[in-house]
Amino acid sequence: MRGQVGGQGRLYGLLGRPVSHSISPAMHEAAFLAQGMNCRYQAFQVEPEALPTAVAGLKALGISGVNVTIPHKESILPLLDEVTENARLVGAVNTIVHRNGRLIGYNTDGWGFLCALEEAGVRPAGARVVVLGAGGAARAIASHLILAGAAHVAVLNRTVEKAERLVSELTASLGEAKGAPKQMPPFTAGALESPQLIRAADLIVNCTSLGMGEQAGDSPLTDPTWLRPGAIVYDTVYRPAETRLIREAKEAGCQVIGGLGMLVHQGACAWEYWFGRRGPTSIMWAAAKAALTE
Ligand code: NAP
Repeated sequence: MRGQVGGQGRLYGLLGRPVSHSISPAMHEAAFLAQGMNCRYQAFQVEPEALPTAVAGLKALGISGVNVTIPHKESILPLLDEVTENARLVGAVNTIVHRNGRLIGYNTDGWGFLCALEEAGVRPAGARVVVLGAGGAARAIASHLILAGAAHVAVLNRTVEKAERLVSELTASLGEAKGAPKQMPPFTAGALESPQLIRAADLIVNCTSLGMGEQAGDSPLTDPTWLRPGAIVYDTVYRPAETRLIREAKEAGCQVIGGLGMLVHQGACAWEYWFGRRGPTSIMWAAAKAALTE
């Protein structure tokens, strides 16, 4: 552990519940240390009913910025002074900047996902994509895939009505979004059991929680034989590093990418808002991998 933040030092952090296993403190602190910055990063466990007090506390204590994670990403929006267009589009905030007494909410999840794809050499422009899941991660990823020029995006979910709602809400808000394509690509909703769409996909992204925690050992794919060899399978789950989906996709001859890159890059992108420059990704990658294996 390093010493206390002192002098002109600045404090950053994470609001969530639970946060005890979060990788973010190790990742940001390693980056601060490597860059000789007098900053600290602390995870704060915040119960949902205490969120308004915690947000007021950021101002009272002069905390410079925070990340926000489950379960507060959506409920924090009305508590902030300003929410950027991108965060409104996604409907969630994962990064807050405290500037001139005001709290400004951003979202770097979709951006972090696109950076992770780019790092793996995958270009979403022109791709037929299947997004499995219709929660917050699916919303961030589906919207950014459309902004990045995907040719077709299908959102498949256990609860089909939720996928339909996501598609209709994003279609409406993307129409007014900066950088949106002039012509919206086909953007559809359906059930997880959609073999034709999965067989035709160039890129399949798991945005369900299947594969992690109590659902480790489960996969969002009903039948792995639906996977086409050569397709790219991205699992946003990063703990464990090899989920059942990743294992089955490898066996099917797909290119696989795990979710740790998205976590690293959403953190590195948060630096753009906190410090005006991207976080050092190689240092953050190494710290995240080390924290994951601890
Ligand atoms: P969320 O809003 O709670 O959404 C959960 C999704 O999982 C919903 O689509 C839900 O379907 C589906 N699901 C849950 N249990 C299921 C089951 N038994 N069978 C089928 N579907 C099931 O969560 P989120 O915030 O979007 O997060 C989703 C995943 O993304 C998590 O694994 C999270 O770790 C990951 N994530 C990763 C990063 C990263 O940086 N790598 C960032 C954000 C999120 P229903 O709608 O039918 O309930």
